[in-house]
Amino acid sequence: MDMKNTASTSIPSPSLLSSSPSTLTIIPPSTTTSGSSSTFSPSSQSPSPSRYEAQKRRDWNTFGQYLKNHQPPLSLAQCSGAHVLEYLRYLDQFGKTKVHVQMCPFFGLPHPPVPCPCPLRQAWGSLDALIGRLRAAHEENGGSPETNPFAARAVRLYLREVREVQAKARGVSYEKKKRKKPTQGGNLPSSSDAPPSTGATSA
Ligand SMILES: [Zn+2]
Repeated sequence: MDMKNTASTSIPSPSLLSSSPSTLTIIPPSTTTSGSSSTFSPSSQSPSPSRYEAQKRRDWNTFGQYLKNHQPPLSLAQCSGAHVLEYLRYLDQFGKTKVHVQMCPFFGLPHPPVPCPCPLRQAWGSLDALIGRLRAAHEENGGSPETNPFAARAVRLYLREVREVQAKARGVSYEKKKRKKPTQGGNLPSSSDAPPSTGATSA
């Protein structure tokens, strides 16, 4: 819901020559990218590292809070893939993505003309990105990859199922972006689908 792929519009280039009065007049204006932007890579579509790190820390803290408030309280060591699934289902109540049930007349329609009583869920893309961040945070906080509950098979299967259900119910495709279907206009609604920053292999 917060990030879009508009990273390529923000290169601050042209003020380089104006700041230096008369000593450096030799710099050709076309090579300004060499010195100033060492961290900026225009080809990657992931958000900037600091923003990702901040989001990851926030997600990790939220999850820790969830474990604390769990009944009975859970330690991180006790946390299994089943608990992660429980957490994802718990998050659904805060979701903003309409997922039509099969009986709904708008099942499979990306843009229904009128509201319907179908439930709101967390968008698959959001969950997928969240799990990626939590999985990384778990390892950074000393968890071993073998016992990482966010990497559990059950979690992977759940995410796949959510993706299929939401793709059908909402009439959208979560195929990788390089395969474009000419018959479809915009394939994703712009609101709540975060870019899959973790699972996607960028070719
Ligand atoms: Zn509906």
